[in-house]
Amino acid sequence: MQQCDFAVIGGGLVGSAIAYGLASQGHQVSIVDEGDVSYRASRGNFGLVWVQGKGQEIPLYSQWSMRSASLWSALSQELAELTGVTTQHHNPGGVHLCYSQAELTSREADLKALARATNQQFQFNMLDHDQLRELIPEIGESVTGASWSSWDGHANPLYLLRALQAGVGFHGGSLLPVGRVKRIRRNGESYIIEGGQETILAGRVILAAGLGNRELAPQVGLDAPLVPNRGEILVTERMRPLLNLPTTYLRQTGEGSMLMGDSHEDVGFNDGTETPILAQIAQRAVRALPALATTRVVRSWGALRVMTPDGYPLYQASESHPGVFVACCHSGVTLAAAHAKCLAPWFAGAEAPAEISPFTAERFHVQTPVPA
Ligand SMILES: Cc1cc2nc3c(=O)[nH]c(=O)nc-3n(C[C@H](O)[C@H](O)[C@H](O)COP(=O)(O)OP(=O)(O)OC[C@H]3O[C@@H](n4cnc5c(N)ncnc54)[C@H](O)[C@@H]3O)c2cc1C
Repeated sequence: MQQCDFAVIGGGLVGSAIAYGLASQGHQVSIVDEGDVSYRASRGNFGLVWVQGKGQEIPLYSQWSMRSASLWSALSQELAELTGVTTQHHNPGGVHLCYSQAELTSREADLKALARATNQQFQFNMLDHDQLRELIPEIGESVTGASWSSWDGHANPLYLLRALQAGVGFHGGSLLPVGRVKRIRRNGESYIIEGGQETILAGRVILAAGLGNRELAPQVGLDAPLVPNRGEILVTERMRPLLNLPTTYLRQTGEGSMLMGDSHEDVGFNDGTETPILAQIAQRAVRALPALATTRVVRSWGALRVMTPDGYPLYQASESHPGVFVACCHSGVTLAAAHAKCLAPWFAGAEAPAEISPFTAERFHVQTPVPA
């Protein structure tokens, strides 16, 4: 039987960032992963490190995202020095494009409210069409303007995943592709994790299995009422530099391909693609950058977001099973640095980061009073 101080169940971006944080603090960590048959948001996402617009209902989420965004460059550099893998992280600011004056006005009102709610920590500028054209010279005529924030950036999520896992290995941790974990049971003060091919004995356990947390959490006194939400993405052939900062729906990768997204579809566990949705995504992208009209799409895919009922993250310690925690979110690229640098220390015994206090499952259990 393999033994470790910490078993992190799930080798996606959330589990790998947490495992990296723990391993780099000197803890003995194993990532326990189901392998290629599982749903994996971390291998199908858009790669934004994004703050603007997030946390309208819970401003601490905006602050948590800003904490992560501000730690991202240092994490990226640390991983590059340690592992030789560069994440292609850039933080040139990002824009959300608007296609009418009404959209622009409503966006400005939302972001002003967010700035107020974060005591002006979140900052942004509104750009009209001409100002936007200075940033993106080939912007389409039908784009009315945009919101811009210096907090935003992007990275290659596959390189990030590889770097985090290589970093875990560098610090003596391991990635164990043991098949699907079906059962977690107590063994004195430790836990026995029953994987498909192997059993692991761990002092502490972090559930970071994405949508797989739904089945694992109730075994250890936790609740993870997650639902899949599909996003489809198209990728073009490599192009000349056209877009030197990311937008919410369109970004140019380090290699020159253009990524176009993002749909939000409630289709259960179907991670395929649908031509009408892909066509809508492509049409919107061509309106933003007309040069895309003559560019070939070389690949498209669907992937499932890991969504809580309100879209905010879930971080919680089990009361019935000391040393067991759950962590999941739908912005695992953005939050990777906070997960590695701020969340992992909490699992190892430090104070919980103040920003995560609203994000337990208790918020899903609030009873609506029945009128008398
Ligand atoms: C289309 C799309 C676009 C996105 N764009 C962005 C973006 O621009 N920026 C951003 O920040 N985020 C984005 N996201 C969200 C981001 O990808 C996710 O938040 C993140 O990948 C979630 O990582 P995870 O590790 O929790 O889950 P996953 O990547 O799903 O990984 C879960 C892991 O757990 C393993 N597992 C599951 N069940 C078990 C089990 N029982 N036993 C063992 N192992 C198990 C799986 O093998 C898998 O490796 C996007 C997501 C999608 C789908």
